[in-house]
Amino acid sequence: MSKLRFRVVETAFKKRAAEVPAPAERPSDYFGQNVFNRAKMFKYLPEKAYERITDCIDNGAPLDRETADIVAAGMKKWAIGMGATHYTHWFHPLTEGTAEKHDAFVEHDGKGGMVEEFSGKLLIQQEPDASSFPNGGIRNTFEARGYSAWDPSSPAFIVGDTLCIPTVFIAYTGESLDYKAPLLKALEAVNKAATDVCHYFNPDVKKVYAYLGWEQEYFLVDEGLYAARPDLLLTGRTLMGHESSKNQQLEDHYFGAIPTRVMEFMKELEIESLKLGIPLKTRHNEVAPNQFELAPVFEECNLANDHNLLVMALMRKISRKHGFRVLLHEKPFKGINGSGKHNNWSLGTDTGILLMAPGKTPEENLRFITFIVNVLMAVYRHNGLLKASISSATNAHRLGANEAPPAIISSFLGTQLSKVLEHLEKSEPEDLMLAGKQGMMIDNTDRNRTSPFAFTGNRFEFRAVGSEANCASAMLALNAAVAEQLKTFKTEVDAKIADGKETFAAILEVLRKDIKECKAIHFDGNGYSDEWKAEAARRGLDCETSVPVIFDNYLKESSVRMFESTGVMTRKELEARNEVKWETYTKKIQIEARVLGDLAMNHIIPTATRYQTSLIDNVYKMKDLFPADKASALSSRNLEIIEDIANRTNFIKEKVDEMVEARKVANKIESEREKAIAYHDKIVPMLEAIRYHIDKLELVVDDQIWTLPKYRELLFIR
Ligand code: ADP
Ligand code: MG
Repeated sequence: MSKLRFRVVETAFKKRAAEVPAPAERPSDYFGQNVFNRAKMFKYLPEKAYERITDCIDNGAPLDRETADIVAAGMKKWAIGMGATHYTHWFHPLTEGTAEKHDAFVEHDGKGGMVEEFSGKLLIQQEPDASSFPNGGIRNTFEARGYSAWDPSSPAFIVGDTLCIPTVFIAYTGESLDYKAPLLKALEAVNKAATDVCHYFNPDVKKVYAYLGWEQEYFLVDEGLYAARPDLLLTGRTLMGHESSKNQQLEDHYFGAIPTRVMEFMKELEIESLKLGIPLKTRHNEVAPNQFELAPVFEECNLANDHNLLVMALMRKISRKHGFRVLLHEKPFKGINGSGKHNNWSLGTDTGILLMAPGKTPEENLRFITFIVNVLMAVYRHNGLLKASISSATNAHRLGANEAPPAIISSFLGTQLSKVLEHLEKSEPEDLMLAGKQGMMIDNTDRNRTSPFAFTGNRFEFRAVGSEANCASAMLALNAAVAEQLKTFKTEVDAKIADGKETFAAILEVLRKDIKECKAIHFDGNGYSDEWKAEAARRGLDCETSVPVIFDNYLKESSVRMFESTGVMTRKELEARNEVKWETYTKKIQIEARVLGDLAMNHIIPTATRYQTSLIDNVYKMKDLFPADKASALSSRNLEIIEDIANRTNFIKEKVDEMVEARKVANKIESEREKAIAYHDKIVPMLEAIRYHIDKLELVVDDQIWTLPKYRELLFIR
């Protein structure tokens, strides 16, 4: 082992001393301890203010300035009592992760002293100096600025010494500059549309919630080894590295015993998450070595998404205390499974009914089928858009590879639900109510791991979402698409009712038509097979694999119409956001290209050449020792390696130069879209070609002098 590697491994071992604080109480005692939840509001607010703010949270009632001041005062009292000294508006810009700008509570008191200050004005709205967040040209740095505005539906919380207030981030001209604002609009749209459809079955329903239960996959690597891999550090993934002789082929990691050191990290993460009101429930090893998963109990979608972002931030922080780095990238290692974030999604009413779960009576089952078919219709109509909503430079490595969902959106329904839909489609309308009367048993044992959008008993599981992604991207597209479809459905049913049809008969007729129409989206077979790719293309599903081109889906007429009619986003916003998406794509590939170029030139080639020189030296010395014939016979293998290294290092050097030139050409392209396409078409294949030869060199060069930790070291936590 090289000196450098020895040192980093050693520091990593020392770091294991990190102790997990042992909480004295049970989780139920500290759950939500750091959250200004309803119980805290009740305690810290006068009765009238408490009623006003809960009305605002539950029913979207407007918040007056006086109440805001009272809420701010209560929040401040609680936060200061908890040791907080600062506050921040916490928002989700169009980058990964979250943003915050901390301000201390202190203000001059006018008498030469200081006083802790936090008004309703500061709670409700702020203008962070956030002019350098991506905005796609909406907000010229020198013109209008963006402001953050309180989202009272997600409670404030304390991290460290800071009170964090969840906010949306909007331009003064009204366009959203974040993920949360359009997500909230999409949730409102689906609430309205689904409540209207529920009224066919139950007039008491006042509200429909979208639920989200995410399953976060991630890798852990030793911090010392991580520090010795500039590619992991700068891009989140390994740009080179030959497969380890052993990786996941024995399937001995999946659901296996969790290593002690990892367990300590998980425990601390769980405790901190529970204190923040995040109901973490499940933890286990995943398929790949060093890969793990955690999942909470599902929650209302906006809150669940805030919680996911918070958990990702906590993971980054807490992993370091245990001598790890967490990798949230979708494909940190070539040749083994990548990481996703299954989004379990469903709709449920304020009366406690899960709309995607079968019921016991014919009516309940008709309602169930109504929602299932409308979801399928929405996913069918917007399959390309939904794919765009989960696409990124990083998730592209995962889609279609190994275990991952393919780059085609289809929906798995399972044998029983498929049969029910088939029956409904084939029967005469008069028979249909009879069919419903027989009751319905749908189990979810029929699992198909290859489907990107699978029905799993009482919900759909959107599996194509990337591990690093903000779930809001997928969730706002899905909820908006379902909202649009439910509105269309209601219009069609109402027209039939106006023509004198009985309500359920009208519903059945429309469902029957829709089942036929959206058949192409239903696929229960093996999504990873080549036959499916051909079949999906025949069915007219979106099969595009180039990420920059996939983003075009956002600007298709059907998408713009859908987003505008549901009030979720305007064409201008969609255009601006696509500029950001293309720009981000380009930047990610650009960084990877630079890092790989640097590593190739100053780690790989020098190391390989050094080894090659030692072989050459050996060949010459053999000549001194042995007669010429014998010396050359004995050196034949070394001569082969010397030549092999020369060929590969020459290739690498040429390709790196070529890549620099290709980048220069691409960088001159004005259009962000065309530039991203150039990076996709020209640069990405070069990254692969260079890597191929580096990985081959890794196999022949003396391990003693190879400077970068290898997969076999990175992937097995001791
Ligand atoms: P899996 O077998 O896919 O790992 P789990 O039972 O662990 O599934 O659940 C995964 C996630 O799905 C959890 O967050 C769980 O709370 C969530 N979930 C369960 N039911 C629903 C539902 N009706 N709507 C949304 N999420 C749900
Ligand atoms: Mg799952």
